[in-house]
Parts: sequence; C-alpha cells; structure tokens
Amino acid sequence: RFTLEPALSRAVTEAFVRLYREGLIYRATRLISWCVQCRTALSDLEVDAQENASGELFDFAYPVEGGGEIVVSTTRPETMLGDTAIAVHPDDPRYKHLVGKHVVHPILGRRFPIIADAQLVDMAFGTGAVKVTPAHDPNDFATGKRHGLVEINLLNLDGTMNDAAGPFAGMERFAARKAVKAKLEELGLTRGTKANPMTRPLCFRCGTVVEPLISTQWFVKTEPLAKPAIEAVERGDTTIVPDYWTKTYFHWMRNIQDWCISRQLWWGHSIPAYYCGHDHVTVSAETPQACAECGDRGLRRDEDVLDTWFSSALWPFSTLGWPGDTADLRRFYP
Ligand SMILES: [Zn+2]
Ligand SMILES: [Zn+2]
Repeated sequence: RFTLEPALSRAVTEAFVRLYREGLIYRATRLISWCVQCRTALSDLEVDAQENASGELFDFAYPVEGGGEIVVSTTRPETMLGDTAIAVHPDDPRYKHLVGKHVVHPILGRRFPIIADAQLVDMAFGTGAVKVTPAHDPNDFATGKRHGLVEINLLNLDGTMNDAAGPFAGMERFAARKAVKAKLEELGLTRGTKANPMTRPLCFRCGTVVEPLISTQWFVKTEPLAKPAIEAVERGDTTIVPDYWTKTYFHWMRNIQDWCISRQLWWGHSIPAYYCGHDHVTVSAETPQACAECGDRGLRRDEDVLDTWFSSALWPFSTLGWPGDTADLRRFYP
C-alpha cells in the first residue's frame, strides 16, 4: 500500500479537517527552520545537528547615542542588519546606566533601544551584551515578542539578502557575512574574534545550513497529544526498555514544540484549506463553493503540501480503512 492511494489520501484529508475543527491544527506566523536550497520549511526532526562545527565569535561595537559604545558578539555578523535592540541583564552593573538609551546602526542609520532582559542574557557569556535579531533567531524572536520589538526579515527565500539589507541587498548570505565584517572593519568597529565550536543546523535532505525565518505555516499543537503519552509512562501503563531511556523520553515529551506540517514542495498531499479574497480560511474535505466566513466565491486552494510524516503517522489505522467503519478497524482498534 502507498500513502498517496485514494483511500489513504481520504484519511489524510479527514484527519486534517478533524484536527483543525478540534483546534489542534492552526495556521500561524512563526520563526521556522527554512532550507534555502530546497526552498521549504522543515520540522525540528528534519534538521540535523552538526556537532562541534567550527564557528567564529565576532565582536563589534554599536555606538551609543550621546557617546560611548556597547560591544556585542555574534556567529552570524550579517544578521546585525536586522538588529532591533541590544539586550543586557537587568542586574549587570556594567550596563545599568545604558538601559533605556539608544544605539545607532552604523551601516543603516536606524536607532533602536538598549533593553534589560534576564531571560535572554547570560551575564557571564561574552561581553554580557547581546544583539537582538527577532526575525532570524528563535531566542531573539521570543525576546522580541516580550518587548514588542520590530521584526526585520533580511532574507529572500533563496538565501540572498533582500532590500532590508540596504547596500548588501542581492548578495548571497555568506558573501554578505564577509562584506558586513569588512564594512565594520572599515568603520573601525570590530573588536576581535575567537574560535567558537558550535552546533550547526543542516537540512536533512541536502545538507545546506538551515536559516531561522519568519513564515506563515500550518502547525499541529503537540502539548495535548504529549500529555496522555507522558501520563501513560508515569502511571506505569507503558514501560520503556531499557529503563534509562525513560528520562530521555520525558525530556522529549515535556519540551516538545508544535509540529510545522506545511511544506513548499510539489509532491505530497495537498492541504485542504481554501482562501477567499479577504484571506479568510475555509478548511473542508470537499472543495467548497464559497468562503465559510463571507460567502465570497473566488476561492484559491493552499499551494502547500503536508509533511510526509503526517500521512505516515496515520498508517496504523488508515490502512485498516479509517475513517470508514471496517471489520479490520473494529478488530485491531476495539
Ligand atoms: Zn535542503
Ligand atoms: Zn471570506
């Protein structure tokens, strides 16, 4: 059997529609992992971690409005073009007097604030001051939401810099990295580099370095699904062998992130979502004639397809005839 067969495709559509109606599938604009080579979003499971990759921690200074400077460190210098704040720890005596002041972007001329954030900043790491790029780093994205910071996306979907990158627009991302470093050097703002072994995220299909990117995608809420799975092991209904994996299991299940299920690929199950001219969403197993919200008749179908694991995960019961009521289903899923 094959997951793209009509019967199994029907199960996929039905599962999507039911989970959507139960509020377990939703569409949101989030920071996701993006492969610039495959030009698609990836789930956390599709990102391979390259351990101990050779990285470089690059220090540079932001001029503070009214005099002085504040030095930050980064492994991705080109992202400074999208910085919209500098964060320091609220208890750090070195920077207390600077919180609330502004820095001026030395290349783009924008001004943005120095903020205090105990969650993002580790006083002992680097200079204790952190550049914040909400559109290109998961921790910075969360910080941006806490402080209402501007999100500036710097990348086109193919990994070249977009117009927000100013003089670096059109450059490939790694060429832009070099060019930004050279520009900061020219401005006299570089403050040294050191080797920094790091974990580099790679696309599991093509091995390209994955970029965190702000994008509108479909997600499955995982917390309500993980809860009964955690409880089953806590109660002892399910035992994990060997036992030492139990801790790992709990770590996975308790830190689980929502699952990004939409892919910008041509091969796969189409997402049963339709949009009207007002961008209302109608989710339906059958092709709808009109928008469920405003009655608009000019609907276009979502162009994305589902993560291949969405259909694979239904395999145990989709092959038994679900959502139909079959003898096989009654026997194996009593
Ligand atoms: Zn890829
Ligand atoms: Zn509508």
